[in-house]
Amino acid sequence: MSQEPEIYLDMDGVCVDFIGAAMSAQGYDPDDYLRQWKQDHAGSLFPEPLMNKTPIEFFTHKNLQTKGFWANLVPYPWFDQLFAELDRLGHVLFLTAPTGAPGCVSGKQEWLIDQFGNDFHDFIFTRHKNRLAHPNAYLVDDMPFNIKPFNQRNGIGILFPQIWNELSHIEDRVAHVVDELERAIAKSD
Ligand SMILES: [Mg+2]
Repeated sequence: MSQEPEIYLDMDGVCVDFIGAAMSAQGYDPDDYLRQWKQDHAGSLFPEPLMNKTPIEFFTHKNLQTKGFWANLVPYPWFDQLFAELDRLGHVLFLTAPTGAPGCVSGKQEWLIDQFGNDFHDFIFTRHKNRLAHPNAYLVDDMPFNIKPFNQRNGIGILFPQIWNELSHIEDRVAHVVDELERAIAKSD
């Protein structure tokens, strides 16, 4: 029997609605702005003309630097189903990049403990996701700039559909990812 697949699961933009919370924290109405993003800027990583801020200004805003911001991020409606499906297919580890703010790491850990209990330890906090790539490693991530280097190191990157990437047209995100993952696992057997 082949080895159990190692599945690395990104958090922001995949499990939790980071962008919606980051918008709210800076006074944007997420429903309104995400609708316009999808309508006029689908596939854009960060539509500056819509947001009227540079990515640096937006993503390093002081309201995004507290532990509470990260600990209180809201899971997407598909989170439970996504996790259950991935858990069926392999050993899931959350793989998430910290920002420059120390509160980010402690807040993310608190979020995971809230979900899975005190002893939960299936997570890695790093920006160097590609260092974990190998032929039995599968990365589920919404950012093409994480997928590409992972693939280059012989891992299998699976892009999670979001309005800011090339899969913005896909509605059933979980079905897409599970399908891709099952196909990739079957191929490696
Ligand atoms: Mg992400």
